[in-house]
Amino acid sequence: MSRQQVQTLRNYFGGRWVPAETDEVLEVHNPATDEVLAHVPLSGGADVDAAVAAAAAAFPAWRATPPQERARYFFKLRQLLDEHREELARMITTEMGKTIDDARGEVQRGIENVETACGIPTLMMGYGLEDGAARGIDEEVIYQPLGVFSAITPFNFPFMIAFWFWPYAVACGNTFIVKPSEQDPIVQQRVFELIDQVGFPPGVINLVNGGKETVNALLDHPRIKGISFVGSTRTAEYVYARAAASGKRVQASGGAKNPIVIMPDADLDTYLPTIMNSCFGSAGQRCLANSLILPVGGAHDMARERVAGAASRLRIGNGLQAGVELGPVVSAAARERIVAAVTHGIEEGAEAVLDGRTVQVPEYPRGYFVGPTILDQVRPEMRVYKEEIFGPVIGMSPVSSLDEAIKRINANEYGNAASIFTQSGYAAREFRYRVETGNIGINVGVAAPMAYFPFSGAKHSFFGTLHPQSRDAVRFYTESKVVITRWAAGDGSSVTGIGR
Ligand code: NAD
Repeated sequence: MSRQQVQTLRNYFGGRWVPAETDEVLEVHNPATDEVLAHVPLSGGADVDAAVAAAAAAFPAWRATPPQERARYFFKLRQLLDEHREELARMITTEMGKTIDDARGEVQRGIENVETACGIPTLMMGYGLEDGAARGIDEEVIYQPLGVFSAITPFNFPFMIAFWFWPYAVACGNTFIVKPSEQDPIVQQRVFELIDQVGFPPGVINLVNGGKETVNALLDHPRIKGISFVGSTRTAEYVYARAAASGKRVQASGGAKNPIVIMPDADLDTYLPTIMNSCFGSAGQRCLANSLILPVGGAHDMARERVAGAASRLRIGNGLQAGVELGPVVSAAARERIVAAVTHGIEEGAEAVLDGRTVQVPEYPRGYFVGPTILDQVRPEMRVYKEEIFGPVIGMSPVSSLDEAIKRINANEYGNAASIFTQSGYAAREFRYRVETGNIGINVGVAAPMAYFPFSGAKHSFFGTLHPQSRDAVRFYTESKVVITRWAAGDGSSVTGIGR
Protein backbone atom coordinates (compact mmCIF):
# COMPACT_ATOMS: atom_id res chain seq x y z
CA MET A 1 0.00 0.00 0.00
CA SER A 2 1.44 3.41 -0.87
CA ARG A 3 1.85 6.10 1.77
CA GLN A 4 -1.01 8.11 0.23
CA GLN A 5 -3.48 5.26 0.63
CA VAL A 6 -2.69 4.74 4.28
CA GLN A 7 -4.98 6.69 6.59
CA THR A 8 -3.55 9.04 9.20
CA LEU A 9 -5.48 8.68 12.43
CA ARG A 10 -7.26 11.67 13.90
CA ASN A 11 -7.94 12.96 17.37
CA TYR A 12 -11.44 13.47 18.77
CA PHE A 13 -12.00 16.58 20.91
CA GLY A 14 -15.16 18.43 21.79
CA GLY A 15 -17.31 15.98 19.80
CA ARG A 16 -15.38 16.51 16.53
CA TRP A 17 -12.69 14.64 14.60
CA VAL A 18 -9.59 16.83 14.34
CA PRO A 19 -6.23 16.20 12.63
CA ALA A 20 -3.27 16.46 15.00
CA GLU A 21 -1.17 19.62 14.72
CA THR A 22 1.96 17.71 13.78
CA ASP A 23 3.60 16.08 10.77
CA GLU A 24 5.31 13.52 12.95
CA VAL A 25 3.72 10.12 12.48
CA LEU A 26 4.57 6.48 13.17
CA GLU A 27 3.56 3.49 11.10
CA VAL A 28 1.11 0.98 12.53
CA HIS A 29 1.84 -2.53 11.24
CA ASN A 30 -0.09 -5.75 10.95
CA PRO A 31 2.20 -8.09 12.95
CA ALA A 32 1.23 -11.15 10.90
CA THR A 33 2.03 -9.61 7.52
CA ASP A 34 4.20 -6.52 8.25
CA GLU A 35 1.75 -4.47 6.15
CA VAL A 36 1.41 -0.77 7.11
CA LEU A 37 -2.18 -0.27 8.26
CA ALA A 38 -2.17 3.40 9.26
CA HIS A 39 -0.10 6.33 10.39
CA VAL A 40 -0.52 7.51 13.94
CA PRO A 41 0.27 11.16 14.67
CA LEU A 42 2.48 12.03 17.61
CA SER A 43 0.29 14.77 19.03
CA GLY A 44 2.05 17.56 20.89
CA GLY A 45 1.28 20.10 23.58
CA ALA A 46 -1.14 22.13 21.39
CA ASP A 47 -3.28 19.04 20.74
CA VAL A 48 -3.29 18.11 24.42
CA ASP A 49 -4.22 21.71 25.34
CA ALA A 50 -7.15 21.57 22.91
CA ALA A 51 -8.33 18.23 24.31
CA VAL A 52 -8.10 19.47 27.89
CA ALA A 53 -9.90 22.71 27.02
CA ALA A 54 -12.77 20.72 25.47
CA ALA A 55 -12.95 18.37 28.47
CA ALA A 56 -12.79 21.21 30.99
CA ALA A 57 -15.53 23.15 29.18
CA ALA A 58 -17.81 20.11 29.25
CA PHE A 59 -17.34 19.39 32.95
CA PRO A 60 -19.78 21.79 34.68
CA ALA A 61 -22.84 20.71 32.69
CA TRP A 62 -21.90 17.02 32.75
CA ARG A 63 -21.28 17.09 36.48
CA ALA A 64 -24.76 18.62 36.90
CA THR A 65 -26.37 15.82 34.85
CA PRO A 66 -27.90 13.35 37.36
CA PRO A 67 -26.14 9.96 37.61
CA GLN A 68 -29.11 8.02 36.26
CA GLU A 69 -29.14 10.22 33.14
CA ARG A 70 -25.39 9.81 32.71
CA ALA A 71 -25.84 6.06 32.95
CA ARG A 72 -28.26 6.06 30.01
CA TYR A 73 -25.48 7.07 27.62
CA PHE A 74 -23.69 3.90 28.66
CA PHE A 75 -26.74 1.73 27.96
CA LYS A 76 -26.60 3.01 24.39
CA LEU A 77 -22.83 2.56 24.13
CA ARG A 78 -23.15 -1.00 25.41
CA GLN A 79 -25.69 -1.74 22.69
CA LEU A 80 -23.46 -0.33 19.93
CA LEU A 81 -20.37 -2.19 21.14
CA ASP A 82 -22.37 -5.40 21.29
CA GLU A 83 -23.54 -4.93 17.69
CA HIS A 84 -19.93 -4.39 16.52
CA ARG A 85 -18.22 -7.12 18.53
CA GLU A 86 -16.87 -9.10 15.61
CA GLU A 87 -15.65 -6.09 13.68
CA LEU A 88 -13.84 -4.78 16.78
CA ALA A 89 -12.28 -8.19 17.48
CA ARG A 90 -10.97 -8.44 13.91
CA MET A 91 -9.47 -4.98 14.19
CA ILE A 92 -7.68 -5.97 17.40
CA THR A 93 -6.20 -9.09 15.80
CA THR A 94 -5.18 -7.22 12.68
CA GLU A 95 -3.15 -4.56 14.46
CA MET A 96 -2.04 -6.41 17.61
CA GLY A 97 -1.67 -10.03 16.49
CA LYS A 98 -3.56 -12.02 19.17
CA THR A 99 -5.86 -14.79 17.96
CA ILE A 100 -9.42 -13.89 17.06
CA ASP A 101 -10.72 -15.86 20.08
CA ASP A 102 -8.45 -13.87 22.40
CA ALA A 103 -9.65 -10.68 20.72
CA ARG A 104 -13.31 -11.68 21.18
CA GLY A 105 -12.57 -12.26 24.86
CA GLU A 106 -10.99 -8.82 25.07
CA VAL A 107 -14.07 -7.19 23.55
CA GLN A 108 -16.30 -9.03 26.01
CA ARG A 109 -14.20 -7.84 28.98
CA GLY A 110 -14.32 -4.26 27.75
CA ILE A 111 -18.10 -4.36 27.36
CA GLU A 112 -18.45 -5.76 30.89
CA ASN A 113 -16.86 -2.58 32.24
CA VAL A 114 -19.42 -0.49 30.38
CA GLU A 115 -22.17 -2.68 31.85
CA THR A 116 -20.75 -2.24 35.34
CA ALA A 117 -20.51 1.54 34.93
CA CYS A 118 -24.25 1.54 34.08
CA GLY A 119 -24.78 0.88 37.79
CA ILE A 120 -23.23 4.22 38.73
CA PRO A 121 -26.16 5.50 40.83
CA THR A 122 -25.56 2.60 43.21
CA LEU A 123 -21.76 2.50 42.89
CA MET A 124 -21.45 6.18 43.67
CA MET A 125 -23.75 6.30 46.68
CA GLY A 126 -22.42 7.77 49.87
CA TYR A 127 -23.47 6.84 53.40
CA GLY A 128 -24.78 8.60 56.43
CA LEU A 129 -25.54 8.21 60.12
CA GLU A 130 -28.38 9.81 62.00
CA ASP A 131 -27.06 11.42 65.21
CA GLY A 132 -23.62 10.54 63.81
CA ALA A 133 -21.96 13.57 65.42
CA ALA A 134 -24.23 14.03 68.48
CA ARG A 135 -27.93 14.05 69.33
CA GLY A 136 -29.61 16.09 66.57
CA ILE A 137 -26.47 16.28 64.43
CA ASP A 138 -26.37 13.93 61.43
CA GLU A 139 -23.28 13.10 59.43
CA GLU A 140 -23.02 11.86 55.85
CA VAL A 141 -20.51 11.27 53.08
CA ILE A 142 -21.17 12.25 49.47
CA TYR A 143 -18.91 11.52 46.50
CA GLN A 144 -18.26 14.22 43.94
CA PRO A 145 -16.44 14.20 40.59
CA LEU A 146 -13.29 16.29 40.30
CA GLY A 147 -12.94 17.42 36.67
CA VAL A 148 -10.73 16.20 33.83
CA PHE A 149 -8.98 12.80 33.99
CA SER A 150 -6.86 10.96 31.44
CA ALA A 151 -5.83 7.35 30.76
CA ILE A 152 -2.62 6.22 29.04
CA THR A 153 -2.88 2.64 27.85
CA PRO A 154 -0.55 -0.17 26.63
CA PHE A 155 -0.49 -2.14 23.39
CA ASN A 156 -1.52 -5.55 24.67
CA PHE A 157 -5.25 -4.84 25.18
CA PRO A 158 -5.81 -2.01 22.69
CA PHE A 159 -9.60 -2.15 23.16
CA MET A 160 -10.23 -3.25 26.75
CA ILE A 161 -7.90 -1.29 28.98
CA ALA A 162 -9.33 2.14 28.18
CA PHE A 163 -12.65 0.68 29.42
CA TRP A 164 -11.09 -0.11 32.82
CA PHE A 165 -11.13 3.64 33.35
CA TRP A 166 -13.18 6.09 31.41
CA PRO A 167 -16.68 4.59 31.79
CA TYR A 168 -16.35 4.86 35.59
CA ALA A 169 -14.79 8.34 35.51
CA VAL A 170 -17.37 9.70 33.08
CA ALA A 171 -20.31 7.97 34.76
CA CYS A 172 -19.17 9.66 38.00
CA GLY A 173 -19.50 13.05 36.28
CA ASN A 174 -15.89 13.70 35.22
CA THR A 175 -14.72 14.35 31.68
CA PHE A 176 -11.94 12.33 30.08
CA ILE A 177 -9.09 11.99 27.58
CA VAL A 178 -7.90 8.58 26.30
CA LYS A 179 -4.32 8.23 24.96
CA PRO A 180 -3.99 4.77 23.35
CA SER A 181 -0.72 2.96 22.64
CA GLU A 182 0.89 4.25 19.47
CA GLN A 183 1.63 0.64 18.51
CA ASP A 184 -2.00 -0.32 17.90
CA PRO A 185 -4.29 2.72 18.08
CA ILE A 186 -6.69 1.88 15.23
CA VAL A 187 -9.40 0.08 17.19
CA GLN A 188 -9.85 3.14 19.44
CA GLN A 189 -10.67 5.20 16.30
CA ARG A 190 -13.56 2.81 15.71
CA VAL A 191 -14.58 2.87 19.37
CA PHE A 192 -14.71 6.67 19.22
CA GLU A 193 -16.85 6.54 16.09
CA LEU A 194 -19.31 4.50 18.14
CA ILE A 195 -18.95 6.92 21.07
CA ASP A 196 -19.76 9.70 18.61
CA GLN A 197 -22.93 7.86 17.60
CA VAL A 198 -23.98 7.62 21.24
CA GLY A 199 -24.06 11.40 21.36
CA PHE A 200 -22.31 12.18 24.63
CA PRO A 201 -22.26 15.98 25.09
CA PRO A 202 -19.21 17.39 23.23
CA GLY A 203 -16.00 17.27 25.28
CA VAL A 204 -17.16 14.66 27.79
CA ILE A 205 -14.95 11.97 26.25
CA ASN A 206 -11.94 12.76 24.04
CA LEU A 207 -9.18 10.91 22.20
CA VAL A 208 -5.62 12.05 21.65
CA ASN A 209 -3.13 9.91 19.74
CA GLY A 210 0.59 10.02 20.35
CA GLY A 211 3.65 8.81 22.17
CA LYS A 212 5.97 9.94 24.96
CA GLU A 213 5.69 13.68 24.38
CA THR A 214 1.91 13.44 24.32
CA VAL A 215 2.09 11.59 27.64
CA ASN A 216 4.38 14.25 29.12
CA ALA A 217 1.96 17.00 28.10
CA LEU A 218 -0.87 15.12 29.84
CA LEU A 219 1.19 14.44 32.96
CA ASP A 220 2.16 18.10 33.33
CA HIS A 221 -1.14 19.71 32.38
CA PRO A 222 -2.39 21.81 35.31
CA ARG A 223 -6.09 21.26 34.53
CA ILE A 224 -5.90 17.46 34.60
CA LYS A 225 -6.87 16.13 38.02
CA GLY A 226 -5.68 12.57 37.71
CA ILE A 227 -3.96 9.97 35.55
CA SER A 228 -4.75 6.29 35.07
CA PHE A 229 -1.87 4.41 33.51
CA VAL A 230 -1.16 0.84 32.38
CA GLY A 231 2.13 -0.25 30.83
CA SER A 232 5.62 -1.45 31.68
CA THR A 233 7.01 -0.94 35.17
CA ARG A 234 9.65 1.49 34.04
CA THR A 235 7.04 3.79 32.46
CA ALA A 236 4.60 3.27 35.34
CA GLU A 237 7.20 4.47 37.86
CA TYR A 238 7.97 7.48 35.70
CA VAL A 239 4.31 8.37 35.17
CA TYR A 240 3.55 7.93 38.88
CA ALA A 241 6.34 10.26 39.96
CA ARG A 242 5.86 12.91 37.28
CA ALA A 243 2.07 13.16 37.56
CA ALA A 244 2.21 13.20 41.37
CA ALA A 245 4.79 16.00 41.19
CA SER A 246 2.11 18.27 39.73
CA GLY A 247 -0.37 17.24 42.43
CA LYS A 248 -2.43 14.75 40.42
CA ARG A 249 -4.08 11.59 41.61
CA VAL A 250 -2.30 8.64 39.98
CA GLN A 251 -2.96 4.94 39.60
CA ALA A 252 -0.26 3.20 37.55
CA SER A 253 -0.25 -0.51 36.71
CA GLY A 254 3.13 -1.91 35.67
CA GLY A 255 4.73 -5.08 34.35
CA ALA A 256 4.66 -8.61 35.68
CA LYS A 257 6.38 -11.95 36.03
CA ASN A 258 3.58 -14.26 37.09
CA PRO A 259 4.39 -17.68 38.55
CA ILE A 260 2.31 -20.84 38.53
CA VAL A 261 2.92 -23.37 41.29
CA ILE A 262 2.18 -26.95 40.29
CA MET A 263 1.79 -29.26 43.30
CA PRO A 264 2.37 -33.04 42.98
CA ASP A 265 -1.39 -33.59 43.45
CA ALA A 266 -2.37 -31.14 40.66
CA ASP A 267 -5.03 -32.48 38.32
CA LEU A 268 -3.27 -31.75 35.04
CA ASP A 269 -5.75 -33.80 33.01
CA THR A 270 -8.34 -31.19 33.87
CA TYR A 271 -6.22 -28.06 34.14
CA LEU A 272 -3.60 -28.33 31.41
CA PRO A 273 -5.71 -26.18 29.01
CA THR A 274 -5.95 -23.31 31.50
CA ILE A 275 -2.19 -23.52 32.16
CA MET A 276 -1.49 -23.49 28.41
CA ASN A 277 -3.82 -20.52 27.93
CA SER A 278 -2.01 -18.65 30.67
CA CYS A 279 1.44 -19.38 29.18
CA PHE A 280 0.77 -18.90 25.48
CA GLY A 281 -2.55 -17.04 25.12
CA SER A 282 -2.05 -13.68 23.40
CA ALA A 283 1.50 -14.96 22.63
CA GLY A 284 2.41 -14.42 26.29
CA GLN A 285 1.64 -10.70 26.03
CA ARG A 286 -0.84 -10.49 28.88
CA CYS A 287 -0.04 -8.82 32.16
CA LEU A 288 -1.58 -11.91 33.81
CA ALA A 289 0.29 -14.40 31.60
CA ASN A 290 2.17 -17.09 33.42
CA SER A 291 5.85 -16.89 32.58
CA LEU A 292 7.36 -18.94 35.38
CA ILE A 293 6.37 -22.47 36.37
CA LEU A 294 7.42 -23.58 39.86
CA PRO A 295 6.79 -27.34 40.00
CA VAL A 296 6.94 -28.71 43.53
CA GLY A 297 8.93 -31.93 44.13
CA GLY A 298 7.69 -34.81 41.99
CA ALA A 299 5.50 -32.48 39.89
CA HIS A 300 8.53 -31.38 37.85
CA ASP A 301 8.83 -34.24 35.35
CA MET A 302 5.07 -34.44 34.88
CA ALA A 303 4.70 -30.68 34.36
CA ARG A 304 7.63 -30.46 31.98
CA GLU A 305 6.42 -33.33 29.84
CA ARG A 306 2.78 -32.24 29.70
CA VAL A 307 3.39 -28.53 29.10
CA ALA A 308 6.15 -29.09 26.53
CA GLY A 309 4.05 -31.72 24.72
CA ALA A 310 1.03 -29.45 24.46
CA ALA A 311 3.14 -26.40 23.53
CA SER A 312 4.89 -28.26 20.70
CA ARG A 313 1.47 -28.97 19.15
CA LEU A 314 0.22 -25.34 19.17
CA ARG A 315 -0.77 -24.12 15.73
CA ILE A 316 1.08 -20.90 14.86
CA GLY A 317 -0.12 -18.40 12.29
CA ASN A 318 -2.19 -15.33 11.54
CA GLY A 319 -4.61 -14.88 14.43
CA LEU A 320 -7.48 -14.27 12.02
CA GLN A 321 -7.28 -17.84 10.69
CA ALA A 322 -9.56 -20.38 12.32
CA GLY A 323 -7.69 -22.93 14.41
CA VAL A 324 -4.60 -20.78 14.98
CA GLU A 325 -3.62 -20.90 18.66
CA LEU A 326 -0.52 -18.69 18.68
CA GLY A 327 -0.32 -15.45 16.73
CA PRO A 328 2.67 -13.17 16.16
CA VAL A 329 4.05 -10.79 18.80
CA VAL A 330 3.25 -7.13 18.38
CA SER A 331 6.31 -5.82 16.51
CA ALA A 332 9.60 -6.73 14.91
CA ALA A 333 11.34 -4.98 17.82
CA ALA A 334 9.41 -7.08 20.36
CA ARG A 335 10.37 -10.22 18.46
CA GLU A 336 14.05 -9.27 18.56
CA ARG A 337 13.90 -8.45 22.27
CA ILE A 338 12.19 -11.78 23.11
CA VAL A 339 14.67 -13.80 21.03
CA ALA A 340 17.58 -11.99 22.73
CA ALA A 341 16.13 -12.73 26.18
CA VAL A 342 15.88 -16.46 25.35
CA THR A 343 19.43 -16.52 23.98
CA HIS A 344 20.65 -14.82 27.14
CA GLY A 345 18.77 -17.31 29.30
CA ILE A 346 20.42 -20.23 27.53
CA GLU A 347 23.81 -18.56 27.97
CA GLU A 348 23.04 -18.17 31.67
CA GLY A 349 22.59 -21.95 31.90
CA ALA A 350 18.90 -22.59 31.28
CA GLU A 351 18.06 -25.75 29.36
CA ALA A 352 15.96 -25.25 26.20
CA VAL A 353 13.21 -27.88 26.24
CA LEU A 354 11.42 -26.13 23.38
CA ASP A 355 13.06 -23.35 21.38
CA GLY A 356 10.85 -21.08 19.26
CA ARG A 357 13.47 -18.52 18.26
CA THR A 358 13.73 -19.53 14.62
CA VAL A 359 10.15 -20.55 13.94
CA GLN A 360 8.93 -20.00 10.38
CA VAL A 361 5.35 -19.62 9.20
CA PRO A 362 5.62 -20.22 5.44
CA GLU A 363 2.37 -18.40 4.57
CA TYR A 364 3.52 -15.31 6.49
CA PRO A 365 7.25 -14.97 5.91
CA ARG A 366 7.29 -11.34 7.11
CA GLY A 367 5.29 -11.93 10.30
CA TYR A 368 6.76 -11.31 13.77
CA PHE A 369 6.47 -14.87 15.01
CA VAL A 370 8.12 -16.48 18.04
CA GLY A 371 7.36 -20.15 18.63
CA PRO A 372 6.47 -21.52 22.07
CA THR A 373 9.63 -21.67 24.14
CA ILE A 374 10.26 -23.53 27.40
CA LEU A 375 13.45 -23.10 29.39
CA ASP A 376 14.03 -25.53 32.26
CA GLN A 377 16.37 -25.30 35.27
CA VAL A 378 15.90 -21.57 35.44
CA ARG A 379 17.29 -20.20 38.72
CA PRO A 380 16.28 -17.09 40.71
CA GLU A 381 19.53 -15.23 40.04
CA MET A 382 19.11 -15.47 36.24
CA ARG A 383 17.73 -12.55 34.27
CA VAL A 384 15.39 -14.90 32.45
CA TYR A 385 13.85 -15.75 35.86
CA LYS A 386 13.60 -12.18 37.11
CA GLU A 387 12.74 -10.04 34.10
CA GLU A 388 9.49 -9.74 32.21
CA ILE A 389 9.94 -11.13 28.68
CA PHE A 390 6.37 -10.58 27.47
CA GLY A 391 6.35 -13.28 24.82
CA PRO A 392 5.52 -17.00 24.51
CA VAL A 393 8.43 -17.99 26.76
CA ILE A 394 8.16 -20.04 29.95
CA GLY A 395 10.86 -20.51 32.56
CA MET A 396 10.59 -23.66 34.64
CA SER A 397 12.22 -23.56 38.05
CA PRO A 398 11.73 -26.61 40.28
CA VAL A 399 11.25 -26.13 44.04
CA SER A 400 11.22 -28.62 46.90
CA SER A 401 8.13 -27.48 48.82
CA LEU A 402 5.12 -25.16 48.83
CA ASP A 403 6.90 -23.07 51.44
CA GLU A 404 9.87 -22.55 49.10
CA ALA A 405 7.53 -21.69 46.23
CA ILE A 406 5.74 -19.01 48.28
CA LYS A 407 9.02 -17.55 49.55
CA ARG A 408 10.31 -17.40 45.97
CA ILE A 409 7.16 -15.64 44.75
CA ASN A 410 7.31 -13.15 47.59
CA ALA A 411 10.94 -12.39 46.79
CA ASN A 412 9.99 -11.40 43.22
CA GLU A 413 10.06 -7.75 42.25
CA TYR A 414 6.62 -8.01 40.63
CA GLY A 415 3.30 -8.77 42.29
CA ASN A 416 0.63 -8.89 39.63
CA ALA A 417 -0.61 -12.49 39.85
CA ALA A 418 0.25 -15.99 41.02
CA SER A 419 -1.61 -19.28 40.60
CA ILE A 420 -1.51 -22.65 42.29
CA PHE A 421 -2.69 -25.98 40.90
CA THR A 422 -3.54 -28.46 43.65
CA GLN A 423 -6.34 -30.62 45.02
CA SER A 424 -5.37 -29.79 48.61
CA GLY A 425 -7.56 -27.26 50.39
CA TYR A 426 -4.78 -26.68 52.90
CA ALA A 427 -2.21 -25.86 50.18
CA ALA A 428 -4.67 -23.56 48.41
CA ARG A 429 -5.51 -21.66 51.59
CA GLU A 430 -1.89 -21.35 52.65
CA PHE A 431 -1.09 -19.98 49.19
CA ARG A 432 -3.93 -17.47 49.28
CA TYR A 433 -3.01 -16.40 52.81
CA ARG A 434 0.69 -15.84 52.26
CA VAL A 435 1.33 -14.96 48.65
CA GLU A 436 2.08 -11.27 47.99
CA THR A 437 0.41 -10.66 44.63
CA GLY A 438 -2.66 -8.61 43.81
CA ASN A 439 -4.49 -11.34 41.86
CA ILE A 440 -4.47 -15.00 42.86
CA GLY A 441 -5.62 -18.07 40.91
CA ILE A 442 -6.51 -21.38 42.53
CA ASN A 443 -6.73 -23.93 39.73
CA VAL A 444 -7.15 -20.88 37.47
CA GLY A 445 -4.36 -19.88 35.08
CA VAL A 446 -5.37 -16.33 34.22
CA ALA A 447 -6.66 -14.74 37.43
CA ALA A 448 -8.39 -11.82 35.68
CA PRO A 449 -10.92 -10.06 37.93
CA MET A 450 -14.38 -9.37 36.49
CA ALA A 451 -15.32 -5.71 35.98
CA TYR A 452 -17.20 -5.50 39.29
CA PHE A 453 -14.02 -6.45 41.18
CA PRO A 454 -10.84 -4.36 41.25
CA PHE A 455 -8.04 -5.35 38.89
CA SER A 456 -5.43 -5.58 41.58
CA GLY A 457 -1.63 -5.64 41.55
CA ALA A 458 1.15 -5.23 44.10
CA LYS A 459 4.82 -4.32 44.49
CA HIS A 460 6.34 -3.17 41.17
CA SER A 461 3.20 -4.20 39.30
CA PHE A 462 1.12 -1.35 40.75
CA PHE A 463 1.81 2.17 41.99
CA GLY A 464 -1.03 3.89 43.79
CA THR A 465 -3.78 2.92 46.19
CA LEU A 466 -7.02 2.48 44.26
CA HIS A 467 -7.06 -0.08 41.46
CA PRO A 468 -8.79 -0.05 38.05
CA GLN A 469 -12.42 -1.25 37.63
CA SER A 470 -15.35 -1.47 40.04
CA ARG A 471 -15.85 0.55 43.25
CA ASP A 472 -12.11 1.20 43.48
CA ALA A 473 -12.34 3.13 40.21
CA VAL A 474 -15.32 5.11 41.47
CA ARG A 475 -13.35 6.11 44.59
CA PHE A 476 -10.35 7.09 42.45
CA TYR A 477 -12.44 9.40 40.29
CA THR A 478 -14.38 11.07 43.10
CA GLU A 479 -13.68 13.04 46.23
CA SER A 480 -15.46 12.21 49.45
CA LYS A 481 -17.04 15.14 51.18
CA VAL A 482 -18.32 14.91 54.75
CA VAL A 483 -21.46 16.86 55.57
CA ILE A 484 -22.42 17.43 59.21
CA THR A 485 -25.87 18.86 59.75
CA ARG A 486 -27.34 20.20 62.97
CA TRP A 487 -31.13 20.10 62.82
CA ALA A 488 -32.19 22.99 65.06
CA ALA A 489 -35.54 22.75 66.86
CA GLY A 490 -38.28 25.12 65.75
CA ASP A 491 -36.59 26.98 62.89
CA GLY A 492 -35.84 24.17 60.41
CA SER A 493 -32.22 23.32 59.87
CA SER A 494 -28.79 24.86 59.73
CA VAL A 495 -25.61 23.45 58.23
CA THR A 496 -22.86 23.66 60.81
CA GLY A 497 -19.86 22.51 58.86
CA ILE A 498 -18.57 20.98 55.66
CA GLY A 499 -15.17 19.35 55.77
CA ARG A 500 -13.10 17.02 53.65
P1 NAD B 1 4.81 0.85 27.65
O1 NAD B 1 5.17 1.24 29.04
O2 NAD B 1 5.86 0.83 26.62
O3 NAD B 1 3.70 1.87 27.07
C1 NAD B 1 2.50 2.13 27.75
C2 NAD B 1 2.04 3.56 27.43
O4 NAD B 1 3.02 4.48 27.91
C3 NAD B 1 1.86 3.83 25.94
O5 NAD B 1 0.68 4.57 25.75
C4 NAD B 1 3.10 4.64 25.56
O6 NAD B 1 2.83 5.60 24.58
C5 NAD B 1 3.51 5.32 26.86
N1 NAD B 1 4.95 5.41 27.04
C6 NAD B 1 5.89 4.48 26.74
N2 NAD B 1 7.12 4.89 27.07
C7 NAD B 1 6.97 6.13 27.61
C8 NAD B 1 7.87 7.09 28.16
N3 NAD B 1 9.18 6.86 28.23
N4 NAD B 1 7.36 8.25 28.61
C9 NAD B 1 6.05 8.51 28.56
N5 NAD B 1 5.15 7.63 28.06
C10 NAD B 1 5.59 6.46 27.59
O7 NAD B 1 4.03 -0.53 27.76
P2 NAD B 1 3.57 -1.49 26.56
O8 NAD B 1 4.77 -2.18 25.98
O9 NAD B 1 2.64 -0.78 25.66
O10 NAD B 1 2.68 -2.55 27.37
C11 NAD B 1 3.17 -3.76 27.88
C12 NAD B 1 3.44 -3.62 29.35
O11 NAD B 1 2.24 -3.29 30.04
C13 NAD B 1 3.93 -4.92 29.98
O12 NAD B 1 4.95 -4.61 30.88
C14 NAD B 1 2.70 -5.44 30.71
O13 NAD B 1 2.98 -6.29 31.81
C15 NAD B 1 2.07 -4.17 31.15
N6 NAD B 1 0.66 -4.33 31.47
C16 NAD B 1 0.29 -4.31 32.78
C17 NAD B 1 -1.03 -4.50 33.14
C18 NAD B 1 -1.43 -4.51 34.58
O14 NAD B 1 -2.60 -4.53 34.86
N7 NAD B 1 -0.50 -4.48 35.52
C19 NAD B 1 -1.98 -4.70 32.13
C20 NAD B 1 -1.57 -4.71 30.80
C21 NAD B 1 -0.25 -4.53 30.48
